[in-house]
Amino acid sequence: MKIPRSHPRYDSLVRRERLVRAWKEGVAVPEGLIAHGRGEAWDYLFGEETSAPALVAERAAAAHLLAAERPVISVNGNVAALAAREVVQLARAIPARIEVNLFHRTETRVAKIVRILERAGARDVLGRGPNARIPGIESKRALSHRDGIFGADVVLVPLEDGDRAEALVRMKKVVISVDLNPLSRTSQRSTIPIVDELTRAILNIKKFVEELKADPPEVARIRRAYRRNGNLGAVFSFLEWRLSHLRRGVLRGGKRSRTPKR
Ligand code: ATP
Repeated sequence: MKIPRSHPRYDSLVRRERLVRAWKEGVAVPEGLIAHGRGEAWDYLFGEETSAPALVAERAAAAHLLAAERPVISVNGNVAALAAREVVQLARAIPARIEVNLFHRTETRVAKIVRILERAGARDVLGRGPNARIPGIESKRALSHRDGIFGADVVLVPLEDGDRAEALVRMKKVVISVDLNPLSRTSQRSTIPIVDELTRAILNIKKFVEELKADPPEVARIRRAYRRNGNLGAVFSFLEWRLSHLRRGVLRGGKRSRTPKR
């Protein structure tokens, strides 16, 4: 389907189309489509824009990824469908390794996702032939690589499930999540929860990585200054503020979706 660029919800419709295509190709699973719907609902409330607290978390994420000894980015079907190119560019900028890690794992799906990432320019993508298990996880998400997620000190886990986020934190890793739902177990458990849409978040982290690369003192300062609970609190304050404006706008019959200017 050709979506007209002038459509007010163009980006959102393009993302849906990409996911449906990925599902038809056996890259995304139906459960992933449902999870995306939950994310969209939250994004609607946030105004489909990156909030100021999300930017703070994205900057902290960039600082941690740059300071890491073994940074790894975990990729699943939805991430490959929505942001393969952006993930590969981020991995190159840090530089970090990429590992395909799936809850609904089949070797065919892993191979398909590896191929998508390679077509987007990635080299040495991990995922096939895992050689370690993350302790405390029953699902196939436990399967990992010593050179990848298992041995990483900092892991970026976009669109994660709560169990694995928790297990990775237990392994003393710095876990950076991207999840539009600030109430999910993932957002509650990760070291740096980024409450933002996946593609926007990855692009912002990459921009911060490029800015901070030549500035190690600033990287150290950001890592010291970031407070996860304060930041998550700011996300909720932002949401309260958004909802109060939305309420007034709706009652006056005004515009509903975009964030009003402060
Ligand atoms: P948890 O196990 O952490 O409580 P969950 O059961 O909601 O979370 P999943 O079903 O795996 O976990 O859903 C993944 C999460 O990803 C959802 O909370 C959803 O809000 C979020 N999400 C989906 N699509 C996007 C996207 N494009 N950008 C950011 N977040 C998204």
